[in-house]
Amino acid sequence: MGLLTGKKALVTGASKGIGRSIAIRFAQEGADVAFTYLSSVEKGEALEKELEAFGIKAKGFRSDASDFAAADKLIGDTVAFLGGIDILVNNAGITRDNLLMRMSEDNWDEVININLKSCFNTVKAVTRTMMKAKSGSIINITSVVGVKGNAGQSNYAASKAGIIGFTKSVALELGSRNIRSNAVAPGFIETEMTAVLDEKVVQGWRDAIPMKRGGTPEDVADACVFLGSDMSTYISGQTLEVNGAMNT
Ligand code: NAP
Repeated sequence: MGLLTGKKALVTGASKGIGRSIAIRFAQEGADVAFTYLSSVEKGEALEKELEAFGIKAKGFRSDASDFAAADKLIGDTVAFLGGIDILVNNAGITRDNLLMRMSEDNWDEVININLKSCFNTVKAVTRTMMKAKSGSIINITSVVGVKGNAGQSNYAASKAGIIGFTKSVALELGSRNIRSNAVAPGFIETEMTAVLDEKVVQGWRDAIPMKRGGTPEDVADACVFLGSDMSTYISGQTLEVNGAMNT
């Protein structure tokens, strides 16, 4: 029996990177998994088959996380397919980095809408389902940058700091209904994106981390397994930093 056997989960932005690892680790632990993607259609369709191979129910939905009405439909479609939602992971996110002086209004709006408003969209839509079930675990993926800020990422840092405030507020509002709300804050995680960067630069980042390595998507996914599981039933309103002590 897996840590998530019998649970139904929805993970946004799972076509690649961290979200993909979360969906796979959830399926390995026995959860039925619905997930979303937007532009990576082939990768999304392939993941659905990969997840089904674990013997669980799996379905990918093409859905824009920043779209309020689409999120409402997504939650309805997921409940119709899985029969409920026990774990919601808001992982979909983007960066549009620039110094404040050069940052356009579009750069700002896009990042806030996809990273932060997306959390409002899905959490608002899933609340009724979780309240009826008298349980639920909401996991919002923030970032070390949301905790400490970062030059050249004021839009991203604001969106990720906003997620932390939102997560705590949801924990306070819904705690009496046995609905937990936590954030996971990854540090430097090595993904396809970082694999194409200059190795010397990346090694410099690794050297600056107390644990002397970048994190893996699986490191983040394991934290989500814990927060989604019954191993964490009295943990809510927290931000779990997964960063090799880089922010310590
Ligand atoms: P990634 O590899 O670029 O993957 C991002 C995922 O989000 C993709 O599946 C993408 O789907 C999806 N997505 C983007 N815009 C979307 C939208 N409007 N609607 C629905 N899905 C959308 O990124 P990652 O590195 O795995 O990051 C995942 C999360 O972790 C993000 O929230 C990020 O901010 C956070 N994080 C990452 C790191 C890191 O070092 N990698 C560190 C801290 C926090 P499509 O490709 O199909 O559009």
